[in-house]
Amino acid sequence: MMNPKHPDRPGLATLLAQPFGEGSGSITPPIYQTSLFGFEDFDSFADAMAGRNTQDIYTRVGNPTTRAFEEMMAGAEQTDAAIGFASGMGAVSAVAFAFSRPGDKLVAVEHLYPDAYRLFERLLRPFGVDISYHPVSAFEDDPDLMAGCRLAYLESPTSIMLQTMDLAKVAAHAKRHDCLTVIDNSWATPMFQRPATLGIDVVLHSASKYISGHSDTVAGVVCTSEDLAGQIRDISLSLLGCKLAPFEAWLLIRGMRTLGPRMQAHQATANLFAERLADLPHITAINTPDPGSVPGLDGRSGLLSIAFDPQIDIRTFVDALGLFKPGVSWGGFESLVLPTSVALGQKGEQNSLQRFGVPGTMVRLSLGLEHSEDLWTDFTTAFHQAGGR
Ligand SMILES: *Cc1c(COP(=O)(O)O)cnc(C)c1O
Repeated sequence: MMNPKHPDRPGLATLLAQPFGEGSGSITPPIYQTSLFGFEDFDSFADAMAGRNTQDIYTRVGNPTTRAFEEMMAGAEQTDAAIGFASGMGAVSAVAFAFSRPGDKLVAVEHLYPDAYRLFERLLRPFGVDISYHPVSAFEDDPDLMAGCRLAYLESPTSIMLQTMDLAKVAAHAKRHDCLTVIDNSWATPMFQRPATLGIDVVLHSASKYISGHSDTVAGVVCTSEDLAGQIRDISLSLLGCKLAPFEAWLLIRGMRTLGPRMQAHQATANLFAERLADLPHITAINTPDPGSVPGLDGRSGLLSIAFDPQIDIRTFVDALGLFKPGVSWGGFESLVLPTSVALGQKGEQNSLQRFGVPGTMVRLSLGLEHSEDLWTDFTTAFHQAGGR
């Protein structure tokens, strides 16, 4: 992939594959597995504590390995700064609490990630934040939806239903009302969508998904301006904690090296599924955003959902699959299937699938890195066993 702004320069995938290069010849960064950093003397210690120098003090706030990952993510998302978190929800809560005060208004997109919805309802609402949820179309079509709001919480595409919005248009509406925009970009990754270049203020990821790519770590990251990053660090790192650990950062750097080729492989399989699913009977909806259907979305990742008519027995379908394992999460090398009836039956308080009415006749597929034709054969074999013609 070429760099769209500078066709003569290497693209993102090439940049991510560059060796670390810190002088030792090591092509990967060292893991600074330390909780704290010692000082030479009284003055250098006092200067660091007072913020007069940038020396690391304590890993909850800063660590060189974590910073190497953060710099990589800021470069990929084309933002000034990035902050690593111990999970995607750590990133979501860090942003939510850094920018919410009692009495503030928050607007969020419907069909947001289930635990983001629960965070807003169980913690932010009792904390005094006025929260409302709106379909993707309202964000695009109502220029005053965000009037008087402190924060707009967006996903494009949204979880499970994979609905998209024109982010440049929404960002322009928000700016006229001084409303900060936050997007969860886990689905597209910076390979397929760079929301900061479209005017979105804060871009976050569950790095447990495509950024890691290997289903071996839980992590999150927030990419934004230096000014907003400073506000998030101040409240969310210092007080809430939840910092990304050095070893996990190192795993994420390793994942990022292959993000480009992995996303191309996921996309090839997703394109094959999108095309062939359209010819199958008993499928009433195929949710996978077409690249180019909204400005700035230039790829299709491997997470899609489909709805079946009642002819298909979903339990039989799931149990007949061999390569697709039933499971939560997504974005790894392995293919997964999540029946919405199972997600709707999740214990605890109401989740976003229940709230916004996701049908129980759907499955979400995470297409992994297995051979596309093998995955298609697995899918169609199970589909026929489950009642499909
Ligand atoms: C998984 C996920 C999260 C939460 O991330 P964790 O790393 O599991 O805490 C947030 N947003 C989306 C869209 C996700 O899929």
